[in-house]
Amino acid sequence: MAPAAITPERTPSPETASDLIKDGMKSNILKTAPAVSNGNIQDGLLEDLNASLLQTTLTTQPCSVPLPDSAESVATKTCTDHMVTCSWHSTHGWSAPQLVPYGPLSIMPSASVLHYATECFEGMKLYRGYDGKLRLFRPLLNCRRMLKSTARIALPGFNPEELLKLIIRLCAVDGPKWLPKDRPGHFLYIRPTMIANDPALGVQAPKEALLFILLSCFPDMSKSATTGKPGLKLLASKEDTCRAWPGGFGHAKVGANYGPTLVAQGEARRRGYDQILWLFGDRCRITEAGASNFFVVWKTREGRTELVTAPIEDKIILDGITRRSVLELVGERLIGVIDVVERHFEMGEIVEAIEEGRLLEAFAAGTAFFVAPVAEIHFRGMDLRIPMSEGDSGPYAGMIRRWLEHVMFGMTEHRDWAVLVDE
Ligand SMILES: *Cc1c(COP(=O)(O)O)cnc(C)c1O
Repeated sequence: MAPAAITPERTPSPETASDLIKDGMKSNILKTAPAVSNGNIQDGLLEDLNASLLQTTLTTQPCSVPLPDSAESVATKTCTDHMVTCSWHSTHGWSAPQLVPYGPLSIMPSASVLHYATECFEGMKLYRGYDGKLRLFRPLLNCRRMLKSTARIALPGFNPEELLKLIIRLCAVDGPKWLPKDRPGHFLYIRPTMIANDPALGVQAPKEALLFILLSCFPDMSKSATTGKPGLKLLASKEDTCRAWPGGFGHAKVGANYGPTLVAQGEARRRGYDQILWLFGDRCRITEAGASNFFVVWKTREGRTELVTAPIEDKIILDGITRRSVLELVGERLIGVIDVVERHFEMGEIVEAIEEGRLLEAFAAGTAFFVAPVAEIHFRGMDLRIPMSEGDSGPYAGMIRRWLEHVMFGMTEHRDWAVLVDE
């Protein structure tokens, strides 16, 4: 057909294109997890993920627990004794979940995930409180976000509350041994994951998938890995790279977002920086830092104090649970002291704020890095020093960090945000 046959009316506008993805995601959830839509099973063929069917086989070869922040923990290769797995097939839905000894998975070399990046994950922590209790932090938000990620890449839907029950069960089995009561203030990293293990090589929405949950030893990453001191050193991304773009999938925790960032991350490390500060577009709009959200605190020229972070509406950045918690806490507790602002902001504004002495502090926030003050940003030949007026942090990052720590480790009881794991 001649190109002239394509009339302008038939070329999808950007809105129609994104509706295509939105409609596709909705129908995928309806098709694969009927209970998510309204609690009724609409398609009799499919069962929903059901945690009450969990079958347990305990290990006969328990491992020893490494010390927190030992070389073994830092290597992030040590997982606890057990994992949860659950398989899904398009014709019969979710099977009974299994809690089994941690070990290798078996998938075919032609499996969809190995060729088409049909993988998504979550990152959460299990905390051993100073009151001796085990806690999760706002875990249902992670489970809901995982559902959004699966829908973005044609993986099956599920009821997020059932995923949470499976996570809690695994934490109840391995938490007591791997986070001993006499070592409060430590955590395990929780990695719920879904992959398409469909062995069909054709490029198509997968008909088979595997959900698994593992618990891993993980270091405290809130200090600079390059200097060993508080204060991250960030390297701004170059003109020729970006992490995510409008209409893409930067807002989903899909593996495809991370592999392609590792060259830049490796270069940052070689040059003595901890993370990449991901910029977007010709005006160097600030998005996120590594796998965490990025915040600045500055004085406006009118003299107001603002906490500024990038907005989530254009779906370029991840809707971080730490980000959301920071915005909510500061909005509630520092009302009238500091304005919470979600908007596009650019490197030029940071450079100006530093030159005019208005930049108060900057920090990164996410589950892995927690609340990590930023000490320096290298941007296009400039070394920008960020104030850390309390030595190891700025005043706001320090305060926010303590507020969150108090909830996570049980110094403040928070009915909604902290979920106790009974052991
Ligand atoms: C996971 C992640 C975050 C942080 O999200 P939290 O829910 O706070 O852990 C931020 N940005 C990216 C790209 C991430 O992958």
